[in-house]
Amino acid sequence: MMAQVIDSQRSGVASTHVSFICQRCCAPLKLDPSFNSLDSQTYSDLASPLIRSMSEKPPESSIPCDQFDVNKDDNVARKEIITQRTSSQDSSHEFTILGEAGNTQVEARSYACKIWGQLFDIMSGHSDVDHPLCEECTDSLLDGLDIQLKTTEDELKHYTESLAQLKEDNGGEDEATLTKELEELRLEEKSLIEELQSMEAEKEKIKEDTERQKEELQKYEDEEKRYWSEYSVYKRQLLEMEDEQRSVDNQLKYAQAQLEKLTRTNVFNATFHIWHSGHFGTINNFRLGRLPSVPVEWNEINAAWGQTVLLLHSLAKKMQYKFQRYRLVPYGNHSFLESLTDRNKELPLHGSGGFRFFWDTKFDQAMVAFLDCLQQFKEEVEKGDKGFCLPYPMINGKIEDPSTKTSFSIKIQFNSEEHWTKALKFMLTNLKWALAWVSSQFKK
Ligand SMILES: [Zn+2]
Repeated sequence: MMAQVIDSQRSGVASTHVSFICQRCCAPLKLDPSFNSLDSQTYSDLASPLIRSMSEKPPESSIPCDQFDVNKDDNVARKEIITQRTSSQDSSHEFTILGEAGNTQVEARSYACKIWGQLFDIMSGHSDVDHPLCEECTDSLLDGLDIQLKTTEDELKHYTESLAQLKEDNGGEDEATLTKELEELRLEEKSLIEELQSMEAEKEKIKEDTERQKEELQKYEDEEKRYWSEYSVYKRQLLEMEDEQRSVDNQLKYAQAQLEKLTRTNVFNATFHIWHSGHFGTINNFRLGRLPSVPVEWNEINAAWGQTVLLLHSLAKKMQYKFQRYRLVPYGNHSFLESLTDRNKELPLHGSGGFRFFWDTKFDQAMVAFLDCLQQFKEEVEKGDKGFCLPYPMINGKIEDPSTKTSFSIKIQFNSEEHWTKALKFMLTNLKWALAWVSSQFKK
């Protein structure tokens, strides 16, 4: 590091003042007068390395012991100094100052500056500190170095103590113990490695187990899904079945109610409703008979006879009774009786044409025959049930009113319409009693 050199031209004086500045604070320096007389030994000492190995012998001074005086005041260079430190030494170190003249003063000063500059460079090269330094900066540098030194010494002390402590600590254990301990540690390491390997194997096994169980879980989940879907299907079916069952239950209830109603119902009563309308006896609302004031049509009378024949026929069938002499043939409004003695003889229970001049003996015979059948039925019932009787006694085509002991013929011939109608009404009443008795016998 080259020292900075300030050149200045003083006005009127052709002389050069060369000064150095402090490398830290840049203050101009005034060199100590001792620098003016620098002998070669001092230069050599300064130029040589500050620290050298113990074995290394301090080199011989390469500079001759001649003194050189560069006093700026006398302007005379008295000594010839040849630097011989190394063969490769810069030729600038070789210098010869001769003669005494006005310009030799300048040369001498230039030479001195060069020497000082080199000196400061050497010093800078030996340490981290650039030279030259002023007195104050040197003091502060020295203070800093002192502190650094103290810190380093403290550290050294600390390290020394630590080393001693360590030596003391390890001093108790001999090599055999350590070897044994090492052996034990190796064994432990080996067993730990084995344990680790077994753990790894176990981990692998557990991983496989986990995989398998995951698969199983997936399977179960699939199955669950399938079961749920099946469950839904069955549940829906169940609901439908329950609906159906409720419907069937309702139907059953309705049917049972109907059955009960029908059980209570008398089939003959329901089928053959015998009642009366004024002087007429009626069966299923068909009037049987005729009055001069009420001219009932043949159609109605025929229909009424048809119902009447069917009723007696049904009652006999229910009693499993067969009439003697006649067979009842229910045939709507063309019903008739068949004579059992003469198969070809039909006795019609229906009429037609003008009533007043109706003169059909067969119709009369049929009505008498029907009354005979009813009488037979009565006698048949009386065989089993002594208490049974009909309100109007019947005999030979006549029916008697027990209250007045008057008999009324069932024939039209030689009879009034009123009597005929009354006789028919009594006959229907008897039939109604017979019906009631049969119904009571077959209730269940
Ligand atoms: Zn300074």
